[in-house]
This record gives sequence, structure tokens and C-alpha cells, in this order.
Amino acid sequence: MMNLSFQAVRLTGFWVSAVFLALASFFFTGCSTAPSEVEVHDMGADATAQALRADVDALTSERFEGRETGKPGAYLAGEWLANRMAQLDLQAAGDSGFYQTFRYKPHPPMQVHGDTSKTMGMAVVSEIVGRNVLGATAALSDTTQRWGVIGCHHDHLGWGDENSLWRGVADGDSAMHPGADDNASGVATLLELASRHAVAPLVEHPLLMASFSGEEKGLWGSNHFTDKPTVSMEHVDWMINFDMVGRLRGDTLAIYGNGTSPVWNEILEECNAAEGAGFEMVLSESGVGPSDHTSFYLADVPVLHFFTGQHEDYHKPTDTADKLNYKGMVRIADFTVCIVQELAVLDSIPFTKTKDSSSDDAPRFKVTLGVVPDYLYSGTGMRIDGVSEGRPAQLAGLQKGDVVVRIGEHEVADMMGYMEGLSKFEEGQVTPVEVLRKGDSMVVDVTWD
Ligand SMILES: [Zn+2]
Repeated sequence: MMNLSFQAVRLTGFWVSAVFLALASFFFTGCSTAPSEVEVHDMGADATAQALRADVDALTSERFEGRETGKPGAYLAGEWLANRMAQLDLQAAGDSGFYQTFRYKPHPPMQVHGDTSKTMGMAVVSEIVGRNVLGATAALSDTTQRWGVIGCHHDHLGWGDENSLWRGVADGDSAMHPGADDNASGVATLLELASRHAVAPLVEHPLLMASFSGEEKGLWGSNHFTDKPTVSMEHVDWMINFDMVGRLRGDTLAIYGNGTSPVWNEILEECNAAEGAGFEMVLSESGVGPSDHTSFYLADVPVLHFFTGQHEDYHKPTDTADKLNYKGMVRIADFTVCIVQELAVLDSIPFTKTKDSSSDDAPRFKVTLGVVPDYLYSGTGMRIDGVSEGRPAQLAGLQKGDVVVRIGEHEVADMMGYMEGLSKFEEGQVTPVEVLRKGDSMVVDVTWD
């Protein structure tokens, strides 16, 4: 999953909502969160879980060097993935075998390193070449059918690119960022679906299994795909995105995009009632989010994004394979099979735009608190999952676990309320912020920056 700040920078245009920009402030370097206990997830003799682990181990191996787009590691990981797809009887669905190559020239001031450096004025701009890996359960020439897209991304941050949240990078160190949850977990889950389809077709209509690259740098691969699709976008009925699905805790599964079609809620509820599902679904309507489903949503395709939640290893070298919940990934794969089969019996899957794709009614703001919110918190207020060193929240003494319930005169009932609250203030202003700490109310003065 990409850092939201980069998405906000890249995706300038009519649809960038202020909500989005507000979210951008939630991710940054130097977030200090207390170490959490690492749950040990016993796979036992579960062969499916073991197969998922084997794929995650392969993707996170040193050979692929953290899979940074444009680097040899991502190239090799793409080859590995194309081979896996071929083994699972998927047909090549790129524009050159399983591959779809894209080129992207990032705009300064983003720091990039590449082979084809050119000096343009003061800034060094390098073109980065990435490859999506695309496999399908039918021939691409089959244009008469409705297609479903199951997506993920296989790229990550290499040895610590500009999106790393690891402090070592700022000190000039490098370390491989294995990206087990982000997003070897999604790739492995996609391959699990492909392997089931190889045994017995999941549905009659064709499925595109799309693994994008360039996601971390700004959804480059999925953007390229929806621009130059190898399956006509008019034939794409829906897209389900796995990005960070490896850390299921309890039953809590975040599902984004349920507002993008009127069919989603009923299908989700039905499949969640199936044996072995029973998720505590945290739903969010928006089709715009920090991952590849956004590209499809913007091409008017109904989307869902599954996400098992933020954690302190996000975008750090500590996002390792041993910390994933493989049985949880099996549950998500089962759940997805049910959804795909429910979709297949519908005559049409209408697309609906979600509210936050228009900037008109979204709050605008000029200040940030400098916190990572707990996205899976469903109580009243906005719970802080981490505070950034030297930013307003930390300077005012706020801590991980505090729940913001009021900013100045503005009551904060939820995330939207929090962002509305932020929209009322200016840099340098001092505002009383009420939080609940272990249930007790306290008020601190926050100086906005
Ligand atoms: Zn990411």
C-alpha cells in the first residue's frame, strides 16, 4: 500500500478531495509507536497456509531485494511471478507474454535513482521502467465475455526508497524492506485463487489476475493498465484488490469500496455468513484509497479493497514473513471465492460514484496533528495509533491510544469529524483538544503546524 502523501502529490486533479489530503498527514516518517506483541500464528498441518507461506518466503527472499520498481529485484520477482502464473495454468495476459511494461518519469522534487538520468534544469529526472504481471483464466481474444479482475501489487520499497518509514534511511543506512504484508501477502492470496481455479473453475466467466508494479511509487502500474488495458475496460465488471491482507487480527477485516456498487453490501453480508467467514467487517464506501483499486474506480469499475490493518512494521525492514497470519489469508481467499461466485450470477454490476470523489463537500484544511489514526477503531472519536516526533500531537503530550473527541468547539465523532475539525484552524493557532486516555477525559493545548 502506498504512502498517502505521495498519492496526494501525484494525483492532482478535480477528484482529489480534501479528505484525501487530510489523510496524507497521517503517514510520515518518525512515527513512534510502542512495540506491539508479535502474535505467533500456528499454521499446523494446514497445507493451504503452508503454500501461502512458501510464496511469501519466495517474494521476500534476498534475491528480490525488496522488489523496488525499476530495480533488478522487482524485475526478477516479476519473472518469478510470471512462472508461478504459468504453472497454475493462467494464460499470458500482458502485451508481451505475461508482462506489461510501463515507463514513468517522476516529477521533482521526488528523489529517484536510475540508469537513464537526464538533467533538466536543476533537477535530475530519471525514467523508471516497471512491469505489471498479468495472467488470465481465458484467452485475451475472448472479448465477448464479462471479466472480473483480481488485483494486487508485487513491488515494494527495495533497500528503503523514498517511501520508507524506517529511521535508518534518514541516517543514511539501508536495509532490505521485505514487504511481507505489503504486499507479498496479496500476491500469495491471488496465487491461491489461481491455484484453486486450476483445480476447478471458480466461475465460468474469465478472470484477470493482475499483479501491478509501481504501486508504492504512486499507482503507476495500475494507472498504466487502466490507460492501456489488455482487456477492454468496457468488459471489466469489477475489481477486487488484495493489498496488505497478511495481518488478520481476530476477525477484523477492513473492506473499502462498498459504496462503488449497490450490489456489494448484500453480497458481503451473504458471504460473511458462510461457514468459516464471520469477519467483523469494517466497511468504507470510498472507491478512492491508497492502492490500485483507485485506478479502476476512476475508470468507473466497481471495486473492493481488502486490508487487514495498519501496523508498526508498515514500510519498514521489520515487515517480515514470520509475522503473517497465513490461516487468515486462507479465510480471505475463501471469502473472495464466495464473492466472485455471487457476482457471477448477477446480470449486471452497476457502478456508483462515492461521495468523496468530489471535492465540493469535503472539508478543506491547512493544519495537521501529526498522528497515525487507528483505521479499524469503530468507537466514538478518532483513536491515535502513533504520534510523530516533533509534530503538534507529540509536542502537546498526546500518545498512542488517546482518543480525540473534540478539537476546539468541534466535536469529533469519527474520522470525518476529525478532518472537519482540522479544516477550522490555521497554522500557529493554539487550540484546546480533548482526548480520552484510558477512559479519562483530558484537554491539551495543540499548536498547529
Ligand atoms: Zn506500501
